[in-house]
Amino acid sequence: MKTDPLLLMRPNIRALTPYSTARDEFSGEGITAWLDANESPFDNGVNRYPDPHQKALKQVISELFGVSTDRIFIGGAGSDEAIDLLMRVFCVPGKDNIVTIAPTYGVYEVSAAINDIEVRKVPLGEDYSLPVDALAEAADDHTKLIWVCSPNNPTGNAFPIEELCRLAEKTKGMLVIDEAYVDFSTKGSMLPLLERYPNIIILRTLSKARGMASLRLGMAFAHPSVARAMAMAKYPYNVNGPTQVEVIRRLQATPDISQSVSILLHERRRLEEKLPQVAGVKKVYPSDANFLLVKFDDPDGVYDKLMHGGALVRNRNRVAGCEGCLRITVGTPEQNDLLLTLLEQ
Ligand code: PMP
Repeated sequence: MKTDPLLLMRPNIRALTPYSTARDEFSGEGITAWLDANESPFDNGVNRYPDPHQKALKQVISELFGVSTDRIFIGGAGSDEAIDLLMRVFCVPGKDNIVTIAPTYGVYEVSAAINDIEVRKVPLGEDYSLPVDALAEAADDHTKLIWVCSPNNPTGNAFPIEELCRLAEKTKGMLVIDEAYVDFSTKGSMLPLLERYPNIIILRTLSKARGMASLRLGMAFAHPSVARAMAMAKYPYNVNGPTQVEVIRRLQATPDISQSVSILLHERRRLEEKLPQVAGVKKVYPSDANFLLVKFDDPDGVYDKLMHGGALVRNRNRVAGCEGCLRITVGTPEQNDLLLTLLEQ
């Protein structure tokens, strides 16, 4: 099914005349007195507004991820910013809806609620498999976005690329694939298929494998019409200057993250082997991410015990579909040793 993303967007976004910043209106050379943006003239390193279009940063991201700059949106509040922006670009409050898998990352539902958008949750199948047909059936003419997180948080599993393609072909809406944890997966990314499917949007973040959670940088890779609409609807200077400079510096200094990823994958395997031997562990779910979902006899008791021993994990015991489970991030070898020691006590 071929979708024109423009036709799915909110009519007011399609018709929007975006705010034009001072720095949009002039891009030439030879200016020594910048008197156009009411900034402070005293140079302290941060007195000027940053590039609202993040051109230099987009160029670096374009080369690193192999995506043309016209298909890139950058969020300065992480990929959480892209999640909220997509709701506002595509869904008419009180009228449109989104479809999500369940359980999944909680921000999709909260962002939809903030924007007064109905959420249709489709439970994952046996062993947390992707319910492609049920997702397509849950959608109607008012479904603008279908959200699939792969590898999925909190279950940890990635879905096969063929299944995601089948869903992209079956659905009339936009399929958003959140690949926050894809660097830890061997199942591959949908990124090479971006040009084949105009209705897919891929979310990535620098917060996980790339180790820059504090800088708050996330990306959406999409059809140029979607990237353009997101750029029109965003806050004017949504990525601050020091972040743009620092991210460029770090991406150029360490474009290859395979070394740190392989340490974490090795540690994940170690935890996968050791945890099933711990008394009280009922199940360790297979993971394609940098965390493990683990089912315990007494999850709340184990959570407290770990916390008092100095190891904090995420309690997912009260999340539908994850009853009895704790979500454990893979740490350094020393941190994982502490976790195992506390669990074995
Ligand atoms: N997507 C998923 C699946 C996540 O788990 C997270 C963070 N936990 C995010 C997106 C948000 O990442 P950020 O805003 O740091 O880019």
